[in-house]
Amino acid sequence: MLASASAQAPSPYRVIGSDGTRTLPVVRGSGGTDFVALDTLARFFNIAMREDARTGGVVLAVGAQRVALTEGQATVSAGGRLVSLSAPVTKDGAAWIVPIDFLRVLDHLLDRRIDIRRGSRLVVVGTAVVPRVVLQFERTASGGRLVITVEPGATSRVTRDGNLVTVRFQADALDLTPLVQVPAEWLATVRADGPALYVELGSTVTNVRQADAQDLGHITLDLLGASPVAQVRPDPVVSAPSIDRPGTMRTVVIDPGHGGADAGSRSASGLEEKQVTLAVAQRLKGMLESRFGLRVILTRDSDTDVAIDRRAELANNNKADLFISLHANGSPIPAMRGWQVQSLDPAEYASSGGTQLGGTDSDASVPVVGGGMRVIGAVPWLLAQIPQADRSSQLGGMLAARLGDAGLPPQAVPFYQAPLRVLVGANMPAILVEMGFLTNPLDAELLASSVFQGAVAEVLVSIISELRGGWPATGGGDR
Ligand SMILES: [Zn+2]
Repeated sequence: MLASASAQAPSPYRVIGSDGTRTLPVVRGSGGTDFVALDTLARFFNIAMREDARTGGVVLAVGAQRVALTEGQATVSAGGRLVSLSAPVTKDGAAWIVPIDFLRVLDHLLDRRIDIRRGSRLVVVGTAVVPRVVLQFERTASGGRLVITVEPGATSRVTRDGNLVTVRFQADALDLTPLVQVPAEWLATVRADGPALYVELGSTVTNVRQADAQDLGHITLDLLGASPVAQVRPDPVVSAPSIDRPGTMRTVVIDPGHGGADAGSRSASGLEEKQVTLAVAQRLKGMLESRFGLRVILTRDSDTDVAIDRRAELANNNKADLFISLHANGSPIPAMRGWQVQSLDPAEYASSGGTQLGGTDSDASVPVVGGGMRVIGAVPWLLAQIPQADRSSQLGGMLAARLGDAGLPPQAVPFYQAPLRVLVGANMPAILVEMGFLTNPLDAELLASSVFQGAVAEVLVSIISELRGGWPATGGGDR
């Protein structure tokens, strides 16, 4: 959805059925929506299609049902029911073009599961088994450990030939989330082809041991190095935590947005923002504590109300080195989707009344990307975040880049600076992550999945891990 993305052709979807895999070419619309040719879909799903000379539209015969589409309309008639699409039906010459979510209409009428996974550009049809696969790499005393999480769990067989480890699953294909930040000396490449996962080991690895399987959902491979201690880069994980270096991370405060009476945004199926933010926060806490022994404080660890200023206050009182506020978005426009990273914009904050010392509290409305307004409270006496704004902005940029690299779908503007009330009082680098839109069906599905939640947490862990060695130098500051 980036402006520059329109210049390059979007990669096609793979349509995976139990009878094989087909390629579905897409064109990208102005709003970032993926469109597909209707006649291609008709061919894939054996649907008769004819133009209706009387209405100028096109009619599909899906079993006993009819689906009528009209050029320029985002509403289609399907079996007598009106269904909204994320974008209008268009024509390109003689070809009819529909947004990819038109497949949901077919899912309903064909009585056949059609699962669109936009993040990994897959369409899973019928009984095809396409588990989501996420890899996590961590250092251990004897080398490294690769944990492969499979959801839903599937039977697998691990074989090794030289530096190539193959994990073959009982599945039709794999939905692989790319790895974030893995040292090439341990893992050279990871790729999926059909039901097989190929892991090419780096030069440091001399042996691989598969840990006893606990369940079908996890495969743990211990990667052993010849003399791992000598070959591993100096890593703060093994250094004494008491050594105080500039930039060292000791305490991280994670703020699961909303809670209690304030549910935040909500999906069509009733999933609430406060539930998603708490799930990701608890997961992130566990990962940071177990991997790095960090002190991690949640602003709430249950479904309770926490006042907005109390959240930053908790971080200040605990001398936190980092404040991360987790949220999920909502929009009256169902097509709005994707994550966005936000940090405080000191200039905007000042112009909204934030630096007028002695001024009275007043609410200011600020435009929100994608339309709508967000009311923020301008709090004149809270100026703590302003000196931290450059670091926070640096952190936001890093996070936006990594989330993108991880293949997670971004908003049109992946990183945004705004006068954010929850961050203004924080006396440490602070960011807010809107992980996706609960009001978008595709995002809601991702936000509910433990794989997506884990992928977001994994990206945050990789950044915090890096910051434990100190903040990277900025290129002289371009803002
Ligand atoms: Zn929120």
